[in-house]
Amino acid sequence: MRKKRYALYVFIISFLLVIASSLLIVRMYQSKGTGSSDAVQTSAPLPQKKASEAGKELEEKVTLGAIGDILIHDRVYIDAMTKEGYDFKPMLASVKDILIQPDLLLANQETVLGGIELGLSGYPAFNSPREVGDAIIDSGVDIVSTANNHSLDKGEKGIQSAIGYMETTSLPYVGAFKDPEDKKKLRILEENGVKIAYLSYTYGTNGIPVPEGKDYLVNLIDRAAMKEEIRRARQNADAVVMSIHWGNEYERTPNNSQKDLAKFLADEGVDVIFGHHPHVLQPMEWIEAEDGRKTLIVYSLGNFLSGQVRDYKDIGGLVTVELTKNVTPGGNSITVSNPEFTPTYVASQAEQNYRVVLLKNAGSHGLPNAEEKYKEIMAHMNGPLSP
Ligand SMILES: [Zn+2]
Repeated sequence: MRKKRYALYVFIISFLLVIASSLLIVRMYQSKGTGSSDAVQTSAPLPQKKASEAGKELEEKVTLGAIGDILIHDRVYIDAMTKEGYDFKPMLASVKDILIQPDLLLANQETVLGGIELGLSGYPAFNSPREVGDAIIDSGVDIVSTANNHSLDKGEKGIQSAIGYMETTSLPYVGAFKDPEDKKKLRILEENGVKIAYLSYTYGTNGIPVPEGKDYLVNLIDRAAMKEEIRRARQNADAVVMSIHWGNEYERTPNNSQKDLAKFLADEGVDVIFGHHPHVLQPMEWIEAEDGRKTLIVYSLGNFLSGQVRDYKDIGGLVTVELTKNVTPGGNSITVSNPEFTPTYVASQAEQNYRVVLLKNAGSHGLPNAEEKYKEIMAHMNGPLSP
């Protein structure tokens, strides 16, 4: 009898120990990463390995969001002027509640955040107040892509000044870098135990040559370089997101070179592609990669905040997509699912009172036929998604 009871105690204690250690493993596995821009991991985390060895299956989910161009024309920063400086937060206030929802949010910071010291400017060679950055951080942006045709608008000085600001505010950036080491560091953000590597490239820099020997300043589209970086990203992260600057301005559908490059990126291992540059929205689409994975592509996210009006240039939006990481004894896999698009509209009156609002509510902000426009944009963005 006594022996039996003793055996029972041993059994209960061992059982509790097993439960406690499994919980610990799960907790360690789920623990948040630093989210810092130098979060490069060289090996798969141990807890994950243990979990699969024990025959356990884990599922982790993360929601990624992205918005289009933050393109600050002079009329926009003039409108943001206050007695003390600049304040762009009111411009984003009515969409902040949707922007803070995704676990990780990317924005395309099209104009350089060089700040007033370098002299503010609008089109064609932009330089924006740093308060633009304060406003997007306040609205939930977790990382900005900085490789675009305006990266070199203020030369190397502009890039260095913007990076100085992003470092002080701990805003991760990708695409334009301060030195070769900075370029080499993968930008891996971790949420809910899923590591996402963000990459960013542009087709060009408006004819401004990249200073000799300083290729690190901005990532130009180059298939060999992209292939190599995607390979590195896949080794160090669970999923790869590509922010890419491409396409023809003001064209609402992707051209063949975008489609061709998208297929290449999908085949190389990119899970989600967020496109920028045309200043208007181009649809979302699934691409089946050579290995059978499904890659989501949003060909263009349009303008999110800019001084451009009419012909769809004042319509942008937030795209969100779910990534599910399955950890099984056979290995890890990522599934991309549930892309959702929420269109937004930049309301303004006589080049003043710039406000980003939901397109479906834009009727009360001066857009005629807002409801119809909303339906049209939803069909435009979602059309190619359905089989
Ligand atoms: Zn552009």
